[in-house]
Amino acid sequence: EGVKVVSAAKIGPVEEQRPEWNNNVEYFINKKLRVWCRVANGEWQLGKIQSTSADTSLVMLSTANVVKVSTEELFPANPDILEGVEDLIQLSYLNEPSVLYNLRVRYSQDVIYSKAGPVLIAVNPFKSVQIYGNDIISAYQKKAVDAPHVYAVADAAYDEMMRGEKTHSFGESGAGKTETAKYAMQYLAALGGGSCGVEYEILKTTSILEAFGNAKTSRNANSSRFGKLIEIHFSAMGKICGAKLETFLLEKSRVAQLFNGERSYHIFYELCAGASPILKERLKLKTASEYTYLNQSDCLTIDGVDDAQKFRKLLEAFDIVQIPKEHQERVFALLAAVLWLGNISFRVADNENHVEVVADEAVTNAAMLMGCNLEELMVVLSTRKLQAGADCIAKKLTLRQATDMRDGIAKFIYESLFEWLVEQINIALEDGKSRTGRSISILDIYGFESFKNNSFEQFCINYANERLQQHFNRHLFKLEQEEYEEDGIDWTKVDFEDNQECLDLIEKKPIGLLSLLDEESNFPKATDLTFANKLKQHLKTNSCFKGERGRAFRVNHYAGEVLYDTNGFLEKNRDPLPADLIHLLSSCDCQLLKLFSTKMRNKSQKPLLLSDSTNQTVGTKFKGQLFKLMNTLENTTPHFIRCIKPNSKQLPRVYEEDLVLQQLRCCGVLEVVRISRSGYPTRLTHQEFAGRYGFLLADKKVSQDPLSVSIAVLKQYDVHPEMYQVGYTKLYLRTGQIGIFEDRRKKV
Ligand code: ATP
Ligand code: MG
Repeated sequence: EGVKVVSAAKIGPVEEQRPEWNNNVEYFINKKLRVWCRVANGEWQLGKIQSTSADTSLVMLSTANVVKVSTEELFPANPDILEGVEDLIQLSYLNEPSVLYNLRVRYSQDVIYSKAGPVLIAVNPFKSVQIYGNDIISAYQKKAVDAPHVYAVADAAYDEMMRGEKTHSFGESGAGKTETAKYAMQYLAALGGGSCGVEYEILKTTSILEAFGNAKTSRNANSSRFGKLIEIHFSAMGKICGAKLETFLLEKSRVAQLFNGERSYHIFYELCAGASPILKERLKLKTASEYTYLNQSDCLTIDGVDDAQKFRKLLEAFDIVQIPKEHQERVFALLAAVLWLGNISFRVADNENHVEVVADEAVTNAAMLMGCNLEELMVVLSTRKLQAGADCIAKKLTLRQATDMRDGIAKFIYESLFEWLVEQINIALEDGKSRTGRSISILDIYGFESFKNNSFEQFCINYANERLQQHFNRHLFKLEQEEYEEDGIDWTKVDFEDNQECLDLIEKKPIGLLSLLDEESNFPKATDLTFANKLKQHLKTNSCFKGERGRAFRVNHYAGEVLYDTNGFLEKNRDPLPADLIHLLSSCDCQLLKLFSTKMRNKSQKPLLLSDSTNQTVGTKFKGQLFKLMNTLENTTPHFIRCIKPNSKQLPRVYEEDLVLQQLRCCGVLEVVRISRSGYPTRLTHQEFAGRYGFLLADKKVSQDPLSVSIAVLKQYDVHPEMYQVGYTKLYLRTGQIGIFEDRRKKV
């Protein structure tokens, strides 16, 4: 109705401290307004308060049923005119059911984008919605539309970049991140497309990265198993002239181990299905179902996906990004080598359970494709050389040790291959001409994960999210502070609390989780249990940490508590490669393996902890990467997109409230809402306020300037000083206040 309401920021759970204005409980109870009420099956339903006594209320639901509920669990509902608003902060009452309902109303109309103040929310439609493409792009470009959209976010980033010389970035988290990132890139490519066509190459790199870094999981048929930051460079004229890619922590365990219903990286299936007969022959390639690494899961295909066709698209993308044909061949050979390694089997060779390699086509083909000596490969796979004084003795391996060795080689090759590909892409996308410093970065990183069983991988992912969350909080806080201070508002009335304590728990030296992990990793006798005990001993004073029985511990992350099992932490953090394996790889008649092994060589020759960039543990290296990322982000103006998965079945038109709520909480959308609720979410210029409510004044003699009128109105109704602040240009109101004034206005 022409009232402009903008968000405020204030971080921290302050409802407890100031219940008197939390949702204006008394007001809506006295007025018997419409409320959200949680019914027996856990659903939120609309109702009207009939009566209230002590702590309970009688509420008549829209079904005409009357229920008795605890008054504390009632939330005021918003007036009809606010149904399905574009920006959640326009809601008079910001509470979980109202936010859920608002997103649901929009979603049911295929409006998947909304805003929560400065944050864009995208609810995954799981079907194609007609809101993309050139017509829509040009509408946003001409500013003919301003509805929330990923294009609008990309457009704002582009404009800001062109106005100043700063770089910009936006991050997203949740389900639909990768698709959203692609649409953002599509928009930027359309805006910044030039004659050199590099924007086309940039778009194509996505399909290469997806082939090698994405896989079908139980929750997403195209799940990214790595994080990425792509920095797109622009010329002074605003044309795309290059890009730089950075990736984070690929989930390499997936190469050797799969859960049912999940697949390994797409590229393996694509290669098996799409390779030409000549290539197949050269790589001794069979079908996917014949490889242990792939057939250990019951899932080999994805509904609606043609792997062979995807392979042809990949070859096209390789050509467009100018990966030379001989490089492509080497990549395929190593992929086939990985598959054959997985088929290598062992047989028990003595009565102490030591094994030897079965000399079959698997090991023969693996050796052939790696370009190494068959005998040497077999020795490396079944023995470990130990230094005993001046002598070197070969110790036979058990089945378990040999299998780990085999899988270790496969994972190492795959991870190195992935990193090498990223380097090649970077070489291809590098802008030759002098850089202008103008760039937009798009971050697409895996979201917070909490499973029944959480290991080192989840720990790293959640740590990354914890860091991003702090960045998000601080940014919102800063934005708010700037606006308040500019308008002469008393900033001290707004508290701020963030997740520093949890980050300290993880990062602090010398007794943070990562430091203790490195210390134990460097200790040959340490086990996952001694590590768990060490954590419990040193970290118990941190309120975000809770020791559990045996090897387990809990961390209270911003998005919820996660139970971790230290099983495998030490090994995954050390990520060792035996010297004889490195030696073998360096002797291979394969340029790439030689290259990978030199990179590894220095690392394994020195003890850990000697802080040298080449011999870092996985955890420390990841921390370094995150710090660098944060540095990049802090020097940019971020635009946040939060992606929401409306149901776990990947179906269109299904909106599961609990799942949405859980994500809104996790990814900080409700935090933004809470920030607004605890600050002064309603902001009207004095003109706006006086224009709308000035007529309520009984005393018509008040000076007619908007500021005086506004103050007089507030005085007349005895509004508590805690409920508002008067700025130079605007009036700042606590949540719900505007609803009260609207009510009075209607009564007149
Ligand atoms: P992960 O963390 O597993 O990588 P993600 O957040 O990157 O997940 P996406 O791969 O982007 O999720 O999205 C999952 C699927 O949802 C897509 O493959 C696509 O089918 C669908 N999807 C996501 N966004 C959209 C959209 N805007 N329009 C249509 N479909 C979409
Ligand atoms: Mg993804």
